[in-house]
Amino acid sequence: MSSLQWIQAHLPGLAVDVFRLSLWLVALTILFLPLERFFGERHPGRSRRELCSDLGFYFISSLVPAMLLAAPMALIAVAGQRWLPEAVPSTLSALPLWSKVLLVLLLGEVGTYWGHRLSHEIPWLWRFHAVHHSTANLYFLANTRTHPVDMVVTRLFGMTPLYLLGMAGTGVAGSAAPVLLLLTGTVWGFFIHANVRWRFGPLEWLVATPAFHHWHHSKIEHINRNYAATLPVLDLLFGTYHLPREWPDACGIEQTMPASLAGQLLAPWRSATSAPRDMQETAK
Ligand SMILES: [Zn+2]
Ligand SMILES: [Zn+2]
Repeated sequence: MSSLQWIQAHLPGLAVDVFRLSLWLVALTILFLPLERFFGERHPGRSRRELCSDLGFYFISSLVPAMLLAAPMALIAVAGQRWLPEAVPSTLSALPLWSKVLLVLLLGEVGTYWGHRLSHEIPWLWRFHAVHHSTANLYFLANTRTHPVDMVVTRLFGMTPLYLLGMAGTGVAGSAAPVLLLLTGTVWGFFIHANVRWRFGPLEWLVATPAFHHWHHSKIEHINRNYAATLPVLDLLFGTYHLPREWPDACGIEQTMPASLAGQLLAPWRSATSAPRDMQETAK
């Protein structure tokens, strides 16, 4: 019996999940710490409190949304089976595997784009999304500084097309489809938040880079640009693309955000966080 099998047999499911996430965290740290040290755009320090808060978010935003989304996703899948013409899933299931994989990634990305964009444009959603934008010095773990409500909204938008079209279950792309989407989005999410100055030259319109997403985190202007997580071509398509050669001068939000994990979890419920400034100016 391997050590992982022993742990699975002796610990409840939640503890096993925490153990798995801890292993992922070690792997991510081993990968990104040297990358950020040697290829970082800047090397800011961060307080122990901020690091502890981000580590808390890493576990919370990995565990809670999955629990909250199980029932809604099942309902959406049932609705799709009931209301979608039979020709749609049968046509999709006849596609070659490579095109199913591309379709899953594209549909998930389009859903995620709009979930993210609405999180900026609808004030009560921005309250929760502002927590993610509160990181002033971006690094790989900023990816998971995301309020569970924010994570649920974005993931709901990303996953709904797949469940509705029957691509999340058996028959089209197998149950691997949501796993593939989550894995790709999560791994790339850590990369685009990382303090790594790599650029992709002529391919930057196609694949998201840290520079592309750091501009999304810029403190004042351009915060309502670059919503895509992996495919910037969607921002080109929907008129929200912004990627100059230089990097943003400052990241974060103008409003203050509590430093503690509990404070950041409670902040959206306590007071309205102002909408991002260029959205306010657009509305004037
Ligand atoms: Zn955002
Ligand atoms: Zn981000």
